[in-house]
This record gives sequence, C-alpha cells and structure tokens, in this order.
Amino acid sequence: MSDCLFCKIVSGEIPADIVHQDKDCVAFRDINPQSPTHVLIVPRKHIPTLNELEADDAPLVGRLVLVAQKIAQDDEVDQDGYRLVWNCQEGAGQSVFHIHLHLLGGRKFTWPPG
Ligand code: AMP
Repeated sequence: MSDCLFCKIVSGEIPADIVHQDKDCVAFRDINPQSPTHVLIVPRKHIPTLNELEADDAPLVGRLVLVAQKIAQDDEVDQDGYRLVWNCQEGAGQSVFHIHLHLLGGRKFTWPPG
C-alpha cells in the first residue's frame, strides 16, 4: 500500500528505531511511547485491521506474539510483566490502518484498562 505509514517503515522508506526484523515482520519503538518499553510488532503483509485477518494468517499472528515475547525478554520486562494490545478500528484507538501488536512494559498497568 503506497500511502501506508507502516508499509513505508517496513520497506525502509521511512526510518524507525527497529529492534527486530525477519521475513514476516518488523518491530520498532513507538514514536510516542506510553511506557518505558513500547514496541510495535508489524507484519510485512499489509492487513488494514484485525477484521481482515483470514485463517491462513493464523501462523503470522502467532509469530508476532512470539516476537513480542522475545523483545520483552530482551528489554528485561518479561518477569515484571508486560501487556500486548491490538487496537481494531478507530473506536478502539486504532490510528494506523496496518495491523500492529503493541508491546508495553516497564511500568505498572491497571485493569480494566479504561
Ligand atoms: P494505533 O493507535 O493502535 O493504531 O497505534 C499506532 C501507533 O503508531 C501509535 O502508538 C503511534 O504513536 C505510533 N506511530 C505513529 N507514527 C509512528 C512512527 N513514524 N514511528 C513509530 N511509531 C509511530
């Protein structure tokens, strides 16, 4: 998608603070972090929202979660705890329409999230 911000980061057209990349995904630090660790794990494949996920995408989704797990370990937030968030559609806070998994850690989180 030529006008997609995260496609441009994935392709290297727009720079980002990348912490992991492989054949399936790119992970980079959020430009407006909501916690000491705030990383976005983004599939290379352009999928606008979780609503467009298909059965064949299940391994990709699992892969993103495992990448988040590894980054949590690398950032040493895995033992104190971290939160993984998917926002789907504007009503849930989605602002970039290329799916991404938020990894948040390094502080206490409340539940319910509000
Ligand atoms: P969401 O609101 O769930 O769609 O999340 C989008 C996230 O992308 C927000 O947390 C933004 O701060 C973040 N973001 C937007 N532009 C950039 C960028 N150029 N580099 C890194 N993160 C970004």
